[in-house]
Amino acid sequence: RRKLPAVGRRERVGIFGGTFDPPHVGHLVAALNARHGARLDRVLLVVANEPWQKLGVRDLSPAADRLAMVDAAVDGVEGLAASDIEIRRGGRSYTADTLAQLHDELPGADLFLILGSDAVAGLPTWEHTERLKELADIVVVDRPGTEGARPPEGYRYEVVEVPQLEISSTDIRARVRDGRPLDYLLPRDVIACVLGRGLYRDGA
Ligand code: ATP
Ligand code: MG
Repeated sequence: RRKLPAVGRRERVGIFGGTFDPPHVGHLVAALNARHGARLDRVLLVVANEPWQKLGVRDLSPAADRLAMVDAAVDGVEGLAASDIEIRRGGRSYTADTLAQLHDELPGADLFLILGSDAVAGLPTWEHTERLKELADIVVVDRPGTEGARPPEGYRYEVVEVPQLEISSTDIRARVRDGRPLDYLLPRDVIACVLGRGLYRDGA
């Protein structure tokens, strides 16, 4: 008798959204450990086009620069990939729209939204959260300073333990301005991108 074909298992895809201005080791360690802990097949680092909550707060680097840095950060890293889905869509970036679009593009996948605990604490201020709850499970990773923040009632979520790294894009931008060391806080190729493109030297 012929063997039956393997029953198709649904792919588990992690969505890790951010401004990534710039991407750093905190993002990469969180993404890889979330992938492992939640048994995700792959994780997409989704570069926000216009993170509407940050508009007017400070000048963002152009989306193309942020995408190039995320591409450099995940180059050769198994299971992580950069996504330009929000940049292609243009305009303000709403996570619920991105998840809905990914459901259309990946009909065989279950989606898992990876959020640092500071982002979890901000969830009540997000738009379209009723849709969001239906579109993805949340994977929470704690981050120093906001440990223990959990989604409100109504969200399906799990918590994945990750090394607590006190690294932020805000601190890295200040380091570039002040000429302080960047080494080991972000991948070498990303440092080369930052310096080569002259990012964060003044203001921002
Ligand atoms: P900024 O300081 O400009 O806000 P950031 O370092 O917070 O930058 P974001 O692009 O805002 O980075 O974050 C994208 C996602 O990555 C969020 O879910 C955030 O919680 C998570 N994240 C960022 N840094 C870390 C870290 N060190 N550990 C765990 N998660 C992190
Ligand atoms: Mg942030």
